[in-house]
Amino acid sequence: MQTISTYNFKGKKALIRVDFNVPLNEKFEITDDTRMRAALPTIKKVIEGGGSPIIMSHLGRPKNGPEAIFSLKPLVNHLSELLGGATVKIAPDCIGDEVKAMANNIQPGEVLILENLRFYKEETKGDEDFASKLAENGDCWINDAFGTAHRAHASTAVIAKNFPNDKMFGYLIESEVESLDKVVKAPQRPLTAIMGGAKVSSKITIIENLLDTVDNLILGGGMTYTFVKANGGKVGNSICEDDFIETARNIERLAKEKGVKLIIATDVVAADDFSANANTQIIPANEIPDGWQGLDAGPESIARFKEVIENSGTILWNGPVGVFEIEKFAAGSRAIGEAIVEATEKGAFSLVGGGDSVACVNQFGFADGVSYISTAGGALLEYLEGKSLPGIAAVRGE
Ligand code: AMP
Repeated sequence: MQTISTYNFKGKKALIRVDFNVPLNEKFEITDDTRMRAALPTIKKVIEGGGSPIIMSHLGRPKNGPEAIFSLKPLVNHLSELLGGATVKIAPDCIGDEVKAMANNIQPGEVLILENLRFYKEETKGDEDFASKLAENGDCWINDAFGTAHRAHASTAVIAKNFPNDKMFGYLIESEVESLDKVVKAPQRPLTAIMGGAKVSSKITIIENLLDTVDNLILGGGMTYTFVKANGGKVGNSICEDDFIETARNIERLAKEKGVKLIIATDVVAADDFSANANTQIIPANEIPDGWQGLDAGPESIARFKEVIENSGTILWNGPVGVFEIEKFAAGSRAIGEAIVEATEKGAFSLVGGGDSVACVNQFGFADGVSYISTAGGALLEYLEGKSLPGIAAVRGE
């Protein structure tokens, strides 16, 4: 398999699939360029190696062919600035003779952005002809869009067939996969996963998959109450999925069978309303009166969570353990973040992923204290579920 670090880009047009799906305001100004910045190391590597990056991305959700509001044109100047003034051109389309001619005329060090891939429904359908036409614009293919790696789209996976010996990961995917594998494939033990968020139903496949690898599993947030009810506790008005009570019992049984230590809150911060003005009390998780709901882990639970986390070799965190958006119910998630930072300082590898836990880590200012933050959403979750991601398999030739 080729790698971006060793590939010779001299004189090559490198098709790079990036995720430039950035938010734009009504004046078509970029309001958050994180995704563009994330792709810079790969783009710069091609330029420094004497090649020309040909950028492919989608933007938004165009429905029926080209729509001006989803054009990639507003990104041209900003990409040039991010690349220290490099010449950045935009093609009028992503396939066709005119685009091919522009790609052929591009000089080393210049960048060409192809127009929005999703102006063609063939992109998301993974159409082979369309993928071949895209491939005609380059000499090699780099996949650097981890966020879409779980999709078998033309530019993220199908195109690989056109570059049997000239395909590779970009730096972003490479580091995502390396970091995830430190959790999934070869973790320093003990491995602790903290799964939070609102519902068991949205996390069940990951939880089941993690039971095969983790030593400790902390389940928090709204999921707590489905487990509490499964054990005969009173959950009052807490969020609870009655349809998943059997699933919760099954998870507990499997954890026992596999020797996984399952840790669920025993005390909670209960509130008489889902709001910042609610009255609160700390009570046992299984004695929540009607009219009250559990919205955060209590101090006894937090102490147990912290002890487990601080003694871990690898930590995965997905989902807050309380309604962290409201300060009154943020203590549990903040304590988890603090414990992860402490464990990381002592040498543990920590990975935080999934939208809300990333928001949590940023809100509490812990981003620099964890080993890796993954912003990949769906692709991250599918990787943790143990699924093969088409965008990764295609590069590896699996
Ligand atoms: P998810 O997208 O499934 O990771 O869920 C994240 C959301 O779960 C956050 O917005 C939290 O506010 C919410 N959440 C966490 N704990 C609870 C709880 N005990 N009750 C209701 N919502 C919760």
